[in-house]
Amino acid sequence: MGTFEVISKHGEHEEVLFCHDKNVGLKAIIAIHNTALGPALGGTRMWNYKSEDDALVDVLRLSKGMTYKAAASGLNLGGGKAVIIGDPKTQKTEGLFRAFGQFVNSLNGTYITAEDVGTGVQDMEHVFMETPWVTGIPKDFGGSGDPSPYTAHGVLMGIKATASTQLGTDTLKGMRIAVQGLGNVGFNLVKYLVDEGAVVTVADIDQVRVKKSVDAFGVKAISPDEILKIECEIQAPCAMGAIINDQTITQLRCKAIAGGANNQLAEPKHGDQLRELGILYAPDYVVNAGGLMNVFVELEGYSPDRAFDKTRKVYDNVKKVFEIAKRDNISTNIAADRLAEERIETIGRLKQRHPGKSSRSFTTLREVFNR
Ligand code: NAD
Repeated sequence: MGTFEVISKHGEHEEVLFCHDKNVGLKAIIAIHNTALGPALGGTRMWNYKSEDDALVDVLRLSKGMTYKAAASGLNLGGGKAVIIGDPKTQKTEGLFRAFGQFVNSLNGTYITAEDVGTGVQDMEHVFMETPWVTGIPKDFGGSGDPSPYTAHGVLMGIKATASTQLGTDTLKGMRIAVQGLGNVGFNLVKYLVDEGAVVTVADIDQVRVKKSVDAFGVKAISPDEILKIECEIQAPCAMGAIINDQTITQLRCKAIAGGANNQLAEPKHGDQLRELGILYAPDYVVNAGGLMNVFVELEGYSPDRAFDKTRKVYDNVKKVFEIAKRDNISTNIAADRLAEERIETIGRLKQRHPGKSSRSFTTLREVFNR
């Protein structure tokens, strides 16, 4: 399949930029999916892709996902993403990330980058040497640092909204909640849940992480093979994607699912199946948007308190998705897409009425750079 065919097959992207610098070995692709709501924000993934086609498909898919996440979260941001082709363990250099930063800069703020799988704060510091259009920079540069506690707080809000709709209360005291994955998000989430008085059961394939949570919070740990099968009110997946699949879906003994992991449904059909089973699914990209909200605040001039406050919005966003699902008699994963699409259409139309007058996306820091 030709490059343009691949691009049009994966959505109507506004711009795809191929970035090449022979001297530093840079091969990267930046995809801007949609900027109807604001500049396209999304992280840079560094991965040893098997082929350039694989890298292109990944960046097209991920950038589209960011459009939906920002739109459903009520943020004035569009969707974009970048991929750098290479081994993050052996091929990272200052020159590589500075050359990449120059390409980001050439887009003049239409695309704003951040960390993602394979890239970290140090790399973003190098990008920042060439462009202001980067978030997730170190705290001493005015950045927001690790987004995970904010993501986890958003997930807590998503769990409360889900409990309120499905169980008639958003008080988590005594509620049985299973957390799969005790990494950056899962560990912080367990802390919040225990503080709320929930009865938390955890699992991780990494026993060091299990011990850390058990020691810190006194929660019960079980085997990773059992966690999705236990009887509980809420399952909170915080590990890998595609964990709701043909094998696991019939083993679930929960009333609802609300967690931080990305791409929890192996296929969209599993959203319909959960609905048929009477299990309420809170769509992942609405529940785990706290990290994105956190970097959005970085664009306005960072304040941890404001970022924390913003993550409370996840509660309303999840509720909105459930209302649309009920209104249109559809599964919640489709309802989340509909919420995002409705907002893009409405705001996009508003902008057409007053062309040239772009609405305020954010203030302060970026205005310094004469946008
Ligand atoms: P992480 O790598 O820190 O933690 C993931 C944990 O899951 C690890 O401890 C790992 O051992 C465990 N795990 C892997 N497979 C498992 C299995 N089969 N059973 C049990 N545990 C398993 O990652 P993270 O930053 O905590 O992110 C967790 C999820 O949340 C990912 O899907 C990520 O894409 C998503 N997410 C994270 C953020 C963020 O701010 N970090 C934001 C949005 C979405």
